[in-house]
Amino acid sequence: MSAQILDGKAIAADVREQIKRHVDDRITGGQRRPGLIVILVGENPASQVYVRNKQHACQQVGFLSELMQLPADTSENELLEVIDSLNARDDVDGILVQLPLPPQINEDTVTERILPTKDVDGFHPYNIGRLVLRQPLLRPCTPKGVMTMLARTGIDLVGKDAVIIGQSNIVGRPMFLELLMARCTVTVCHSKTKDLAGKVRAADIVVAAVGVPRFVTADWIKPGAIVIDVGINRLQDGSLCGDVDTAAVSEVASWITPVPGGVGPMTVATLLENTLIAADLRDSRED
Ligand code: NAD
Repeated sequence: MSAQILDGKAIAADVREQIKRHVDDRITGGQRRPGLIVILVGENPASQVYVRNKQHACQQVGFLSELMQLPADTSENELLEVIDSLNARDDVDGILVQLPLPPQINEDTVTERILPTKDVDGFHPYNIGRLVLRQPLLRPCTPKGVMTMLARTGIDLVGKDAVIIGQSNIVGRPMFLELLMARCTVTVCHSKTKDLAGKVRAADIVVAAVGVPRFVTADWIKPGAIVIDVGINRLQDGSLCGDVDTAAVSEVASWITPVPGGVGPMTVATLLENTLIAADLRDSRED
């Protein structure tokens, strides 16, 4: 078997096109352009690349976007004051604080300071709680992007056995909630899981979010399984690879996401989706 490729770049382009049309409709209808503010504290090189990608994506769909670059020695209080001022701005629909933050700033405190209605990353406890209760509002971008990709396979997810490797707050845990909401039977594995290979072998859907290059090998994969590779790992030669041994696993799986060009572009496209949802929600409340 040779797996079909779930092309995140192409699906993300479709999503952006839909968003652009919706933005055009808003403008035609006399509404404002959605606005996203990205805050970058310090000069982490990887963060700078991510932030640039997000800004470029905003421009492509006609959003207003602004980058606020704050020095690495910004205090927690200074950052909280910036967030307060953005929470109060009518032209700002989404606020994204690029993680990681310098050590003097508590990420949880910052996440909780953003108004839940402007929390386009979907990390605020309010938005996570809504997802737990199956009443999602703004959903974490990477897992939601994975659900958009899974929908493109056309496969009915109901009753499927899914295994997630990784239990982080931004990927593994919300991924669990998304797949459960789609009525899969979900197992979340982590560094202390016993017989990981055996658990993965039983899965119809495997989501790898570990951060270890080519961690998931072909002998772990049930023939015909869907394999979603969230990992982004930079190798010594500068190239990127995922958490899955893509070439070998492609011989066993039915669908697989490439790295790069898989889940990564979907995360950014979903951020745009969330910003548009936030703008629509705020406008509907202001009526
Ligand atoms: P994390 O480091 O917070 O979590 C890694 C998880 O893997 C942990 O829960 C840990 O328990 C588990 N783990 C580690 N070793 C293990 C082992 N031997 N067996 C089983 N589980 C093990 O990472 P994260 O933030 O969730 O990110 C995971 C990967 O996804 C990274 O490569 C990251 O760069 C990537 N990522 C990609 C996107 C995207 O848009 N594509 C978004 C976020 C993260």
